[in-house]
Amino acid sequence: MITDLPSAQDFYESGKDLLGLAWDSVSQLLLNLDQAGYYGVDTEEVSDAYWDAARLRLATALSTTQQGVEFLIKGRIAEVSPFILIVDNPSKWPSPYAGSPLKFSEFRTLDAQDLPRVHDTVALKPLPADFVEKFVWLRESRNTIMHSVDNELTVPVVGVLKSILFVHNKLFPGEHWPSVRLCQLERAPDIELGSIDYVRNRVCWEMSVVLDLLRPAEVKLYFNIDKKQRRYTCPVCYYEANRGVGFEYQLAVLRPNSPKSTSLYCPICNLVHKVVRKKCDSDCPGNVLDEEGTCLTCAS
Ligand SMILES: [Zn+2]
Ligand SMILES: [Zn+2]
Repeated sequence: MITDLPSAQDFYESGKDLLGLAWDSVSQLLLNLDQAGYYGVDTEEVSDAYWDAARLRLATALSTTQQGVEFLIKGRIAEVSPFILIVDNPSKWPSPYAGSPLKFSEFRTLDAQDLPRVHDTVALKPLPADFVEKFVWLRESRNTIMHSVDNELTVPVVGVLKSILFVHNKLFPGEHWPSVRLCQLERAPDIELGSIDYVRNRVCWEMSVVLDLLRPAEVKLYFNIDKKQRRYTCPVCYYEANRGVGFEYQLAVLRPNSPKSTSLYCPICNLVHKVVRKKCDSDCPGNVLDEEGTCLTCAS
């Protein structure tokens, strides 16, 4: 018999962790630029050299994303049966007569390029066509970058981030990527070193930088907010964050968007919070306060 059979859930978790790793690495490139801009560096000037140096990191992130997607498709196949993932002629399998139980990891499993075809053969519903196209694109881009000596070749950083949002949304339409990021960072190894205080800061920072680079339709799809709507500080993110290092992110929107609305939707919390409509005491036009009286426009 075969022991240690992986479940669909095991594959999904590993797949999402890999997407998170790629996201972490690529979004950091944007955060570095954002921080440099904050300190007065002309980011337009450094861009070329910076992106050139970032090429390997982008290629690795693309590769990690692709591996993540492979795990996710394997998860879908494992929902039918993990045994379908095993390939090779039975004569090449490890011997069941050696006296010890066989481990799943001892078997060769399906190659990446065969995953969509096998999935669509055994699953109730085929993978969406645009998802398969993206999967092929990820594989081809990675191969081109890894085997190319062309220094001109760059993978747009936003392209990698958008791919992660796209594949996650296609396979888990009921999930919300910023919430997945929060969970991942809360159990990341850095937490052992005391960085739990900064998880909210980091997720709000990366999401606000990424949100600015997305088209309105993408913002609606992945963050569930209207890009053009006025944004406020989320009271929960504000209290959860480490404000000692500054916290100026405004990602929450009134829902409905009306002058009397007392509900604020935050795409990081993925929750609606109650707010009070009252004029801010400071010299600020804000009239959306949290229940403690903090202005969600100027945070005073
Ligand atoms: Zn929030
Ligand atoms: Zn104010």
